[in-house]
Amino acid sequence: MIGLVDANNFYVSCERVFDPALEGKPVGVMSNNDGCVIARSAEMKAMEIAMGTPAYQLEGLRRRGVIHLLSSNYELYGDMSARLAQLLRDACPEVAPYSIDEMFIYLDGFSDAQCQAIGAALRRRIRRHLGLPVCVGLAPTHTLAKLANHVAKKQPHYEGVCLLHGESATTQVLLKQLAVSDVWGVGRRLAERLAVSGIRTAWDLRESDPKQLRKRFSVVLARTALELRGTPCLEMNAVEQPRQRIMTSRSFGQSTGVKEELHAALRRHAQRSAEKLRQQGSLARAVMLFLNTNRHRKDQPQLSPSAMIPLDAPTDDNRVILEAVREGLEQMYRPGFTFMKAGVMLLDLVDAQQYQLSLLRPTTKAHPHLMKTIDAINQKMGQGTLRFGMTDADAPWQLRCAHRSNRYTTCWDELMEAGTHPGAIAAARARREQQRLAGGKRVAKTRANGLSHHGN
Ligand SMILES: [Mg+2]
Repeated sequence: MIGLVDANNFYVSCERVFDPALEGKPVGVMSNNDGCVIARSAEMKAMEIAMGTPAYQLEGLRRRGVIHLLSSNYELYGDMSARLAQLLRDACPEVAPYSIDEMFIYLDGFSDAQCQAIGAALRRRIRRHLGLPVCVGLAPTHTLAKLANHVAKKQPHYEGVCLLHGESATTQVLLKQLAVSDVWGVGRRLAERLAVSGIRTAWDLRESDPKQLRKRFSVVLARTALELRGTPCLEMNAVEQPRQRIMTSRSFGQSTGVKEELHAALRRHAQRSAEKLRQQGSLARAVMLFLNTNRHRKDQPQLSPSAMIPLDAPTDDNRVILEAVREGLEQMYRPGFTFMKAGVMLLDLVDAQQYQLSLLRPTTKAHPHLMKTIDAINQKMGQGTLRFGMTDADAPWQLRCAHRSNRYTTCWDELMEAGTHPGAIAAARARREQQRLAGGKRVAKTRANGLSHHGN
């Protein structure tokens, strides 16, 4: 049985762990320059505030306290993701991260009832240890596990854990309710083409002839139909989710602990990911990297470090992405470990065309005609005649990360403060400052036991 553990509204949920006052309120997380909304709580979705809504349009609501808008805190989200992966690794025989907040687990040899019990236990454990709400989808194939997770999220009576079989009455009822666009790997455009052929629901796709699907659409779609029947035939990374995340990961031919070799592997994966990114016409806002040691080698020390690097502006530029890879490797590399797998994930994708319609939004995508025109005008009329919108350093909307929460789990200066009296907090801060000056990091480390310093 394959399980998919997926956090609910991940970025917002990470924020709520450290600021419970945000619970039950409409909360949004903004992109790197506080430009637009990239994550929404259920309450904000209910207000019909769309993904990608520019933050300035919501300024009124924010000021009146109707909604809470936070700057993205990628360091916190990356670290919470690493903790989620670690918790699952401690509990399950095999874990494969699929995105920052989605992890596949492989539960072979367990009965349905056992799998459901494991799912429910993991859900409770993640809530208790990390404070994150997750849902678990269980099924014999990746595609069905993904759908089961979707159902677990949408239908409260499943209590966060849904198990689907290829051939059950429940599966039939559910697949008939689900649009074909809800199926893993079926994007909007493909869904439109399928609708023309009368394939509108997940059930329609399941009942279609795989040979015909292969001929008229693609091998992957034919396999997707088989997966909906419960026949496993797609690997985790065979299906890309357009406009969400792009991942390239591979096991090494030979495991290595040499930094330069790891860097070379990560560079290769990064360039492959960037290529896919440009093919689908997207820009990425963040890069996540990870390394795994071989968990079957019990004689070797184990480590699965990861690093999350936010990009200053959405980009599809290899140079920017490779620089992030270099920085990420610096953060996560530890000598003395032999790694057997590396992966590069591009996250929080945005449609390049739509994004570039706005001059005010910075991107590092090369835009040759625009650049040439601006340069020509400035040469003729004097430097600075034409500028991009964001040059006024004092403009309040330029403040990046103006509403960022603390990096509670990765930054000594930004740990959670205990106590409510302002005097007590000030005293604690002064004490910590003293400790740091005295080189007393070790003291802080012992106190923060359990908040292991990850990725540095
Ligand atoms: Mg999620």
